Amino acid sequence: MASIVVVGSMAFDSIETPFGKEGKILGGSANYFSLSASYFAPTRCVSVVGEDFPVEHLNLLKSRKIDVKGIKQEAGKTFHWAGRYSYDLNQAHTLETHLNVFERFEPEVPKEYRDSEFVMLGNIAPPLQAKVLAQIDNPKFIALDTMNFWIEGQRDALIQAIGKCHALIINEGEVRQLTRQHNVVQAAQVVRSWGPQILVVKQGEYGALLFDHGEVFSVPGLPLAEVKDPTGAGDTFAGGFMGYLASQAKFSISRYTLRKAIVYGSVMASFTVQEFGIKDLLTLTRELIDERYKRFVELTSFHVD
Ligand code: AMP
Repeated sequence: MASIVVVGSMAFDSIETPFGKEGKILGGSANYFSLSASYFAPTRCVSVVGEDFPVEHLNLLKSRKIDVKGIKQEAGKTFHWAGRYSYDLNQAHTLETHLNVFERFEPEVPKEYRDSEFVMLGNIAPPLQAKVLAQIDNPKFIALDTMNFWIEGQRDALIQAIGKCHALIINEGEVRQLTRQHNVVQAAQVVRSWGPQILVVKQGEYGALLFDHGEVFSVPGLPLAEVKDPTGAGDTFAGGFMGYLASQAKFSISRYTLRKAIVYGSVMASFTVQEFGIKDLLTLTRELIDERYKRFVELTSFHVD
């Protein structure tokens, strides 16, 4: 089975939602992505943490068979993000971003990771995404995720990094901001003109859109009776999407494989939002994941008379 390498943040998150508040819990784009992808394919993680990062957490990632050789521990503090959600859980309001050890991070991809076929350039500074990609020998499928913080601060570097990718996976509001196009169909055309032929637009609780080879496919979000914290839903989605693609016996990114992959993305995101932080991502099995996949099939099937 093909391996996935991910670069992104390992973080302490402080989160407030209408349903509760948690201080400094473990989060980060690489963290959510790896936990999610690990249910599908071997996952290798490149990131940096500070001296304050608990070794127990690295052990927990290892217990999910995630390769953590690429996570450096450096002097200083771990990345810290603080965010708030109001009743519109689709919109995260960033209160604080402290890059901390990421400010001087020079990613070194361990040589054992360099044969990775799938590359996830998770949400982190675009130059770091590019530096990781440059160290992979012969990637077959490269996807990138980002957020408003980087669109506002490093748009040019970001567009350059996007140009090297097959797929861009991004929130609806953020693709509008990035492409300066309000209409999402037109935004997809702009993204294609930069390089990636596949665009996945995450629409929070409403699901996701896939633009691929001139066609559009849509998956809903699962209507859940209880949603506590949407943090990490996007990265978990990307983990399910990339994980499913990497788990395919033969490398084929066909239209239908991509469609199934965004359903698996939506399945994984539906687990994350049920609880604060990573809690609900730790206790899954492939059977539980596939049961929920079937609920998506039921949710979306109808007959043509
Ligand atoms: P999402 O999946 O979009 O909800 O992403 C949530 C995760 O992104 C949180 O766990 C944060 O630690 C992380 N995060 C927030 N801001 C940034 C940033 N500027 N760069 C990298 N990661 C971030």
